[in-house]
Formats: sequence, C-alpha cells, structure tokens
Amino acid sequence: MKVLVINCGSSSVKYQLLDMHSDDDFVLMAKGIVEKIGLPEGVLTHKPSGKTPVEKKLYIPDHKVGMKLVLDALVDPEHGVISSFEEIEAVGHRIVQGADFFNGSVLVDEDVMDKIELCCDFAPLHNPAHILGIRAMQAVLPAVPQVVTFDTAFHQTMEPKAYMYALPYEYYEKYRVRRYGAHGTSHQYVSQRGAKLAGLDLANSRIITCHIGNGSSITAIRNGKCVDTSMGFTPLEGMIMGTRCGCIDANILPYLMKKENLTPDQMTDIMNKKSGFIGLGGKTSDMRDTVALAAGGDERAQLVIDKVKHDIVKLVGGYIAEMGGVDLIIFTAGIAENNAWLRRDVSKAFEFLGVKIDDAANDAARYEEAIISAPSSSIKVAMIPTNEELVIARDTMHIAQNLK
Ligand code: AMP
Repeated sequence: MKVLVINCGSSSVKYQLLDMHSDDDFVLMAKGIVEKIGLPEGVLTHKPSGKTPVEKKLYIPDHKVGMKLVLDALVDPEHGVISSFEEIEAVGHRIVQGADFFNGSVLVDEDVMDKIELCCDFAPLHNPAHILGIRAMQAVLPAVPQVVTFDTAFHQTMEPKAYMYALPYEYYEKYRVRRYGAHGTSHQYVSQRGAKLAGLDLANSRIITCHIGNGSSITAIRNGKCVDTSMGFTPLEGMIMGTRCGCIDANILPYLMKKENLTPDQMTDIMNKKSGFIGLGGKTSDMRDTVALAAGGDERAQLVIDKVKHDIVKLVGGYIAEMGGVDLIIFTAGIAENNAWLRRDVSKAFEFLGVKIDDAANDAARYEEAIISAPSSSIKVAMIPTNEELVIARDTMHIAQNLK
C-alpha cells in the first residue's frame, strides 16, 4: 500500500511516500519538503529514491498549492515515482497536539477535525497548519482516506500524579491545563526498536528514551507504556533546548514581565524562541555551532553543553528512580544521534549503577541502530535513529486496510 506521510508546519510541508508491504517491510519511494509557503520565493526540494533530486523555486501562495506541487512532483515523468495520483491509497498526517482527546491514530472525519481545532489553543503554531494541510489534501485527493497521528497520544498512559500540575484543580477542569508531552511518536518508535535490538521483552521492560534534537524530551516507559515524560502542557517544559528555556521557576515570568514591561505574548516568545542555546550561549541555537564555539574557547557555549548534559542526567536519574530501575537507555534525534560525546558523558554519570559504555561502538554509532554499552554493563545503552514517518505510515496503513 502506497502511503503519503505529511508533516505540515506553518510555512512548510515535509513529505514521504512509502510503499508499505508490512510494518517492517517497506520502501521509501520519495521524500521532500516545500518551504516558505506564502513568502515571495517558495521552494520545493524533491528527493526521489534512485533518481536525481530536484529543487524548484517559485511562489507558493498557500498549503493547497503546496500539496498540489508535492503530488505533481510525485507523478512527474522525469522525477516522479508513481504514474498517477490513484496509486496513493492513504495519507497520514502528523499532528502535534491531540490533548486528551486521542490516545492513538484515527481516521479523519469532521468530529476529529473539530477536536484538532479545539487543541489549537495548546499548539498555536502547529495545529492550525495541520488543519490547513488536511483540508488541502482533502481538496486534491477527495477519495483517499486521511489518517492523523498525534505526538501526544503515546503519553496518554501517564497517571494523574505524573500529568497533573499542582495548580487549583478548576484550571484543569475549565481549561484542560495538564501535562501532555510531545515527540510521542518518536519515543514509541525508538523504544520498540531498542527493545528488539537489546533482546528485551517490551511488555516486561523499563526503558528511558532521550530524544535530544532542536526540541528535546525524555520519556520513562514501563512495559511499553509511557509513565512520565519531560515536556508538559506545551513542549516548553523539561530540559534546555535550541531556543526553549525548559523548566524555570514560574515566578520568573511575572518578575520579568514587570521589570521589562513585557506582554504575555512577548514573554512567551522569549521563553520559546529566544532562550535555550541561543539565549544562554548568545550566538546560536544549533548544537554543531555550539560545539565549534566551545572548542574555540567560548565559555557560554561550553555552559550550554554542560547544561544539556546536566539536564539529561537529572531527568534520566529521576526516571530510573520512578521506575525502580531501568533495563535500557536510548539516545535519538539530531543531537544525540550525531554526538558520541553526549552519549558517553551522560552514560558516565550512571557508572555508579554499573553502566559501562563501549567507546569504540559508541564512537562508530552513526546513522544505524547500535548497542553502545559494553557487554558487562548492568544497563544496556543504545543509539536508535528515530523514524516518526514510519510510525505514521504504519498506523495509516492499518486504519486504511480496515476500511476495505
Ligand atoms: P533535530 O531537531 O532532531 O533535527 O536536531 C537538530 C540538532 O541536531 C541541531 O542542534 C544540530 O546541530 C544537531 N545535529 C544535526 N546533525 C549534526 C551533526 N552531524 N553533528 C552535530 N550535531 C548535529
């Protein structure tokens, strides 16, 4: 079954076309991205498997035009990978926020659309873009089933003691203020792959997954189910990130707002877009650049690196205690997949529990799944490249197959 996976941002559309034979047997036919929708010069980058990639620069006024461009690229006689739109049997969309409405992927209908709309308040940058993407796809492929997969769904198994804030209860009842988490699709995927690789029975395991990228979150997973995660009501909570501050004392907000005469929107912007690596380090939100700066003697870049490791260790340590131990620690996403020093230094903090890294395996781990702990390690440690699109494609395939 050919499944088109769509990840819509406010001005971009990322896509992958996968030919799914089964959950683990699939072919990536093409992937790409449409960027700068609504800006004077938009761009489509299309990468068909086994063919030359193509880049087109043109004005892309809205998401509908963007989706049409994606479909045209897929059927293009030269760069395409299918001969007609009819070959696409289902479309799966990534949705950032499903709140407590959704604990798994679902087929899109008007009730589902209403609920995604209700969640816009919690994800004002993402959910409206997802809605545009679904509507655009419905317009260009009206007969094709559309499925939605939520970043929050995997975390719906948390117990109230993990997801509730100790605020007056009425704010939970009135406004659904609670912890939802994010990156759920990634945490779910890498925990399943990691359990297989480490020879663990997922249904009887304790795993901690560290998704460390531009956005970062850490999740405690007992018997395949999320028991705690570091992101909260929004992706701001938890550890330091590229542009987000992570956990701070909430009293800092009114204090700074009064001192600097800031509006709520300005404060939100500072915490989400001007903090983290860029705020603390002052020069970049990118880890590659931060590492280069620290190597050149930039002390604040070094502080960023030290804080990243500190925050991970603190969260992982807490989750080990929460689960009464851990069998496997997994590193994934841009920063953790590409920086052996981060995996080594974080793991070293748990030497007192018997964790032992195989330095050669850790240094060699790149692009491919790998166990990076030594055979004598009390706790296994792995690097697993994440693949959120595959989870979306699998769920979409299963839901579309059930319609037949
Ligand atoms: P993600 O959000 O998962 O795409 O991760 C983005 C982060 O990963 C950025 O901070 C990048 O600097 C970092 N990253 C990606 N590739 C590399 C690399 N080859 N070496 C070091 N850091 C990298």
